[in-house]
Amino acid sequence: MMTVACPSCGASYRLKERPEGGGTLTCKRCGTRFAVPEDSGPPPRGAAHAGGEGGAARRHHRPSGTPTGLVIGLIVVLAGAAIVGMLVLATREKAPTYAELKTQLGIVPGGGQVEMDETEFMQRMGEFDRNTTMSIYVYFYRRVQEGEAEIVLDRGAWENGRARILQITLR
Ligand SMILES: [Zn+2]
Repeated sequence: MMTVACPSCGASYRLKERPEGGGTLTCKRCGTRFAVPEDSGPPPRGAAHAGGEGGAARRHHRPSGTPTGLVIGLIVVLAGAAIVGMLVLATREKAPTYAELKTQLGIVPGGGQVEMDETEFMQRMGEFDRNTTMSIYVYFYRRVQEGEAEIVLDRGAWENGRARILQITLR
């Protein structure tokens, strides 16, 4: 059992076993593809905590690691982190223009109000930098080539699984 977190939105996933050779995952929440680090020793603290005493017991019975094993483990961890970092950078290089983002979200000049379900909205966004919920609005911020786009959603609709876009502006 291992836990991996999406580098873009932080959603975490529990995997029964690590995919062969590391592999990649597509985040169900935001659609980001990211690398799963290869096996590198004990699971992260969060996973051990979630696993409870069973996890601790398994670790106890694990044969003691040699220094060489530890070094290889460290290298694998660092390589995994580097791959994830490069993927994040590579994704960030591809920031859309403001116009492209609007098209991506289905906003057309003179068109009516745009509404879709939450999953579709997340897929269309691709990634976002942060979001906040305030009073009756949910704000999403997405880096675009000209700066940053602010997408304002209706909070009531959002809590019912619908993304109703009230406003999009370039900041
Ligand atoms: Zn995600």
